[in-house]
Amino acid sequence: MITHHDWGRPRNTNMIENWLKKIRKIFNPSLRHSATVQEEFTNELCSSQDTAAEFAIPIFCYHSLDKNGATYETNNHLALAQDLKLFAKRGYQVLPLTTLVDVLRGVLPYTTVTGKKLVSLSFDDGSNFDYYDYEDKNWGHGESFHTILKDSEGSLIQAFEGPRAVAFVIASPEARAILDHTCANGQNEWTDEWWAPCAEGNIIGIANHSWDHVHDTLPTVRQEENKKASFFDVKTFEDAEAQIADAQHYISEKTGGRNLPFFGYPYGHISPYLRDHYFPEHGARLGLHAAFGTDGGPVRKGCNIWSIPRFVCGAHWKTINEMEALLDAVERGER
Ligand SMILES: [Zn+2]
Repeated sequence: MITHHDWGRPRNTNMIENWLKKIRKIFNPSLRHSATVQEEFTNELCSSQDTAAEFAIPIFCYHSLDKNGATYETNNHLALAQDLKLFAKRGYQVLPLTTLVDVLRGVLPYTTVTGKKLVSLSFDDGSNFDYYDYEDKNWGHGESFHTILKDSEGSLIQAFEGPRAVAFVIASPEARAILDHTCANGQNEWTDEWWAPCAEGNIIGIANHSWDHVHDTLPTVRQEENKKASFFDVKTFEDAEAQIADAQHYISEKTGGRNLPFFGYPYGHISPYLRDHYFPEHGARLGLHAAFGTDGGPVRKGCNIWSIPRFVCGAHWKTINEMEALLDAVERGER
């Protein structure tokens, strides 16, 4: 096993001899301009780094609002709990998204994540059931994502320090108050007082899922033509500031600055304007390091940090058998 410090460096006497021969060739005046020698040398360096740098890490996404029954298929809480057991059984470790993003940004070497079986976890929309347990009138006590993750600490290893999962939350209190009626039970279960203790606890980190999700059940959304249900339509600087910068400020204030530097595209809609212009140009100012979509593939080396793919429970897999098949496919390099 080589570390990143060893990339491309000779590891035994024979290799050193070969290297010296090649270096002598390169510095030999008669061969100095030989493209073939230099190319051969460079290719060897690169392929040695490439082999050490291969990885395919799935990020899974769950919705805590999806709890319409007491089965895996109808309840994302039960799905998450079963999936965590499956990951442990198959020898996976949980990789904090903070570590994965540091690798993609070149802050940490690729070898941080190679040679291990890793999965990462995220939750969308930020209903209270990310953090609070609940009682259901039909089947009784239900555990929050937070409780489920905490309980898994003894059995499912975490690869590095950091939050075990990231919750992408909708910032606008007005939007959440309406969504609590249109998408949930109207019981004031889409609040934000839990963000700060949750962020501080560091089991689930809090991050930005836009101002109002341009949700189609809201009377008005922050889009210049009041176009709803498509985050592809957030494609001007003004709309981006209203949806992303304002949300970032609100979430930062509510978490005492402990929010994570990530954005999750509503509906997984990756607006090319945001990906190619707004985030690369304004991400640093906003304290954003990466953005996540739902394109249904594992994260590989060279992934664009402004369109990191995820798999969504209920869309990309629906049962524990489908999760097994998905893991098999990623391991075989078929997805
Ligand atoms: Zn969402």
